[in-house]
Order: sequence, then structure tokens, then C-alpha cells
Amino acid sequence: MFANLLRNGKSDNINVSPWIKELNKNRSIKTLESDMQTDVAIVGGGIAGITTAYFTLKYTDNYVVLIEAGKIGHGATGHNAGQVVDYFEKPFSEIVSEYGLELAADGQKAVTSAWDLVDEILEDTKMKINFSKFTGFAGCQDLEQLLTHLENKRLKKSAGIKIHKVKISEDFADLKKIPDKYSDLYTLVPHKKVLELLETDNQEYIAVMQSQKGCMNSALFVEKVCEYLLKQYKDRFKLFENSPVLTLDLYNAIGVLQTKTNFIAAHKVVLCTNGFEYIHITNRAGENIDKKYHKMVYGIVGYMAGYIEEKTKDPIAISYLPDIDVPQDDSRPYFYLTRRNHKYKGDNKSLVCVGGPEKIEDKDSFKYKKNKKYPTLAKNEILKFLKGSFKNTPSNLSDFDFKWHGLMGYTESGIRNVGFEPLNTTLLYNLGCNGVGILPSVYGARKIAMHLAGETIKESIFDPEVQRRVIG
Ligand SMILES: Cc1cc2nc3c(=O)[nH]c(=O)nc-3n(C[C@H](O)[C@H](O)[C@H](O)COP(=O)(O)OP(=O)(O)OC[C@H]3O[C@@H](n4cnc5c(N)ncnc54)[C@H](O)[C@@H]3O)c2cc1C
Repeated sequence: MFANLLRNGKSDNINVSPWIKELNKNRSIKTLESDMQTDVAIVGGGIAGITTAYFTLKYTDNYVVLIEAGKIGHGATGHNAGQVVDYFEKPFSEIVSEYGLELAADGQKAVTSAWDLVDEILEDTKMKINFSKFTGFAGCQDLEQLLTHLENKRLKKSAGIKIHKVKISEDFADLKKIPDKYSDLYTLVPHKKVLELLETDNQEYIAVMQSQKGCMNSALFVEKVCEYLLKQYKDRFKLFENSPVLTLDLYNAIGVLQTKTNFIAAHKVVLCTNGFEYIHITNRAGENIDKKYHKMVYGIVGYMAGYIEEKTKDPIAISYLPDIDVPQDDSRPYFYLTRRNHKYKGDNKSLVCVGGPEKIEDKDSFKYKKNKKYPTLAKNEILKFLKGSFKNTPSNLSDFDFKWHGLMGYTESGIRNVGFEPLNTTLLYNLGCNGVGILPSVYGARKIAMHLAGETIKESIFDPEVQRRVIG
């Protein structure tokens, strides 16, 4: 049991992410010190911005400048749970009812395709990074939840998407209430099998869903991709950090970014800012974008905690959905746990991380502060969850080795925005994490590169234009 050994007095009060700790502290950083022109300016150096640069450099001849307010990988990318998953946080059935089955299914397939895109990057860069892939699980506690998931699976199956059957406890009291139309989507198993897969003794869990999951340090991934790009595309790629963009002026076929000291003029500007940004956008070639853009996203702060332990088990990712009949604090949708391989002082250990507590922030007045105090309430909620639901929790766990928080940008549509700004196509977006953002960012990056290469792309749920048509 390592928790408490690692902690220092400060970790109670500040944001200490295990992912940031693994980054190269001696990396040299360049800030923007002169005006410049480029083909493509990318704003934001998280996984969305860096992979957008990667695919743009690989699949076009464009010159690319990436400009980051702080340091690359230090936003949500350095403060997440690092679970690599290909589902939407928004139920698939809702996406179908808004966009229709075909567009929804294409969207799902697009996000799933990002598994291969990550492999493509790993192969090209030959980076050494711990990327575990495994079958992950999600447990549910009541009929209503179960029916939502069965309906999602029914729709996916009808659209030709591969699904895994749900395992339902043969002791589940409401078995008879499951409609016949779902009979080919589940199997009955002993209750103890459900509990075993979820690594829980909490008898309330009555069903388990499974899917391919993975885990990685997405901040380290970003750092390594960046190192590769700076070497591989010396002439076409420039990176500037500690250079916040303050304004963006859009003209016909040109965008001008302004930092405190300099300007960058670009034929295309791609915002990869997670969604919550402080740039003032002026469309000098048409209708005002700023208000529409700012209305499009809102912030949710997610709180995480993790402890290091002896490595006795394989990596895993499990989500624990609450009983929706039992009133919850409405800012706590579910807990998600990841156990991964972790090097500690050269030894092989496991790092167990849990997230769940969230705070929805005021759209108009909120400014997220990375160094904001970590709330005791979040720590206590995570401890309570672990002790009540994860049977492998060390019995003497009273605090964590790491406690951190990060900002997620949520779009009104609940779907990532990837594509051209309808009011001025000089501007493109790859933003809006909506809870699950690693694979969607990478898919978004490939889509942006296709747009920049002038390829014709089928209409999709990620297009800002389509989302505005549907959501308004
Ligand atoms: C607590 C938490 C848990 C999460 N868990 C998961 C998970 O398990 N699985 C998953 O898939 N996703 C998860 N996510 C979401 C995922 O981490 C993000 O969606 C993903 O990292 C998106 O990265 P990004 O590049 O879009 O955003 P970021 O990493 O936030 O990058 C945006 C960058 O833009 C920069 N920027 C902003 N404004 C400006 C400006 N004006 N000028 C210059 N630069 C600017 C910021 O400094 C930042 O570095 C989680 C997020 C959080 C916060």
C-alpha cells in the first residue's frame, strides 16, 4: 500500500496529475516572438491539436503552426482518466432520434476507426508508450438503465455495428420485464459472475456490459507525437507554447490570430481548444460568430484520484453506473475506475484511478483555474465509492497518492464539433470533449486533415453545420 507515502503536504491543496508527472521536465519551449504567415494555424496543444497537426502534415503539403496558451498536454489531455473508449457519453438512442440511424451509425463507426488511427501514429512514430488494450466492463443496477443499454445495442446491431451481449444476473428480480425484442442481446449468468467481472461485492449490480477499452497517458502521447513532428517536418511545422491567442479576425480566406505580442496570418485556423476558450472571434466577412460560438460550449470540471499498489492484477477499466431510482447529487453521473501498469522508482506497480465527481460550471461567468484547491468532498466521495463498490480497495486507504481535476468542454449537441464554421470556412473546429474525448479527438484530427486536403466528406453528426440544423 503506497498511498500516503507519496503524498506531500501540497497534494491536498493542488492539482497533481500522474500523467503530468511523467512528462519531460527538461523539454525546451519556444514562445511566439515574431509575426508569421502559414497555411494552417492550429490553436491548442492537447491531443486534438497535436493529432490534427500530425494528420495535416502527413496527408497534405501544408505548413502548420501550432500555438498553445500554456504547455502542450497540460489541459484536459493531462488531467483525464486516460481510458481509451469508443462510445459516446450521450446514449446512442438519443443520437439516433436526433440525426437518424444512418448518420448516428456512421458517427459511431467513425469514432471506432480511431483505434486504428492511434495505431497508425504509434507505428509511424515508433514511440515507446504504455498503451494497454483489454476488455472493459460497465455495471448497471436497475431495469431502466439496462433497457437504455439494450436499446442502444439493438439500434447499433440493426445498423451493422458489432455488439457484445450484456450479461444479466439470473437472479435479477425484473428479468420478466425485459421485452422480447432484446432476447438476442443478452445472456443470463450467475449473479456472482456479474460481481466478479465488476470486481465488486456490491450485490446491487445486476448486469454487466463489455467492450474494448484501453488506457494510456494521453499527455505523454502528445509530448512524443510533438517530438516526432518537430524532427520529421522540420521545415513545415512550428510549435509555440506559453503564447495564448487573444483574438481571431476572420476575413475571406484568411484568419489573423493575435497574441499579446504578435500576429499569425493563416489560410485556415483550426480551434482545438477543448471548447472552453478565451479567444474573441470577429468575422469580418459576414455574420457575427462570437456569440454563437460561445453559446455552443459549457464547462464541467471532473475530479479524479488515484493510488499506487503492488502489481497483482492486469490493467482494467470499469464503469459503475448508479441506481437511477435512488436520488443522486445530480452532478455525479457515474464512477469510472482504471487500473494500469505503473512504474514507481523503477519497479512495476499498478496505479488505480477513479473519477466520478463533477461540477457543472456557470456558462457565462466561469473561468477554470488549474491550480484551484482540490475539494475534500470529491476525495470523500471517491473513497466512499471505492469502499462500497470496489472489492480490491486496500482496507487502510484513507487518502490518495494523486488528486487532480480537469476541464471538459461540453457542446449543446453532446457531440464533438469537427469541421468548418458555417459562417466562415476559414475557421474549423476539433473540439468539445463531452466526457469522452481521446478517440473522438483523434478521429476529428483525421477528418480535419481530409477537409484541408480538399477531399469530399460525407455529411456527419460531427459537422457544426449539421449540429446547428438539428440542435438549433
Ligand atoms: C477529469 C477528466 C476525465 C476524463 N476522462 C476521459 C477518459 O477516460 N477517456 C476519454 O476519452 N476522455 C476523457 N476525458 C476527456 C479528454 O481528456 C479530452 O476530451 C481530451 O483530452 C481532449 O483534448 P483536447 O485537445 O480537445 O483538449 P485539451 O487537452 O484541454 O487541450 C486544449 C488546449 O488548448 C489550449 N488553449 C485554450 N485556449 C487557448 C488559447 N486562447 N490560445 C492558445 N491555446 C489555448 C489549452 O491550454 C489546452 O492545452 C476526461 C477529461 C477530464 C477533464
